[in-house]
Amino acid sequence: MTAEPVIDAQDTLATAVVPPTVRASLSPSRAADFKTCPLLYRFRSIDRLPERPTVEQARGTLVHAVLERLFDLPAAARTPESAGDLVAPQWDRLVTEEPELAGLFAEGDAAGVAEFLRSAATLLEGYFAVEDPRRLEPAEREALISAVVDDELLIRGYLDRLDVAPDGALRVVDYKTGGAPREAFEARALFQLKFYALVLWRTRGVVPRVLRLLYLKDAEICDYTPDAEELLRFERTVVALWQAIEQATARQDFRPRPSRLCDWCSHQAHCPSFGGTPPPFPTLATTDPLRDARSGPVTPGADE
Ligand code: SF4
Repeated sequence: MTAEPVIDAQDTLATAVVPPTVRASLSPSRAADFKTCPLLYRFRSIDRLPERPTVEQARGTLVHAVLERLFDLPAAARTPESAGDLVAPQWDRLVTEEPELAGLFAEGDAAGVAEFLRSAATLLEGYFAVEDPRRLEPAEREALISAVVDDELLIRGYLDRLDVAPDGALRVVDYKTGGAPREAFEARALFQLKFYALVLWRTRGVVPRVLRLLYLKDAEICDYTPDAEELLRFERTVVALWQAIEQATARQDFRPRPSRLCDWCSHQAHCPSFGGTPPPFPTLATTDPLRDARSGPVTPGADE
């Protein structure tokens, strides 16, 4: 298998040249969707059924935004108070950029918004309980990274934070803000981190020393240390996953796989496992596996 860097962090695929051998692109979220439930992958990636943002997702996006901006401040100023001061302005910015977020609260529901902002500040307290950002100087934040594997598949995604030690060791950090039981999502979260580790290994030639999940609600850290053999196996898994997606697309056959994650699925109304009927399978143009790569980057924070 071969790999090559495609773009640098903070760049976008809209401006990058996708190598001509590349036939498809895959993000960790979409790959994890297919692993979780092939029909969920179809609804999100092929049918592109809309999903209304939930309050929990909006809180996650807000906390990620605050933690990203926090590191713009001089090290000594990265205090819990500074983070708290960033919450409201960042929410205003997000609502300006994504007006549908405002619809999460009834018009004039100032108390609801205030409670929401307080809950985001509480999650940030969880962050400060496990890390001291005054002692950190991240190399990258909300960075889009990508690599080509197996000559044909572009794998890419946004990582929350990358720390680089003086000896060059890499630590990939992912903030988890959800309130759902951790065990329901931990395998998915680790899959996502290994995905980033594979991209970094293939583009920089270094296996990250630590993959870190930072659970803000529980104020807990979960560290994982991958090795090259494991990432090689993981690469084969990702390629096999993509081949399975291609086959399912050619056959228009994406089956539901019910699990406890159905409780968080927005598409039960279309799911046969819940008495629903999927929409007609879209035309060939909308199943273009490189559509995302042609139209622009995946969304930061979307991998939460
Ligand atoms: S409800 Fe469950 S089985 Fe149905 S599409 Fe969603 S995740 Fe899959």
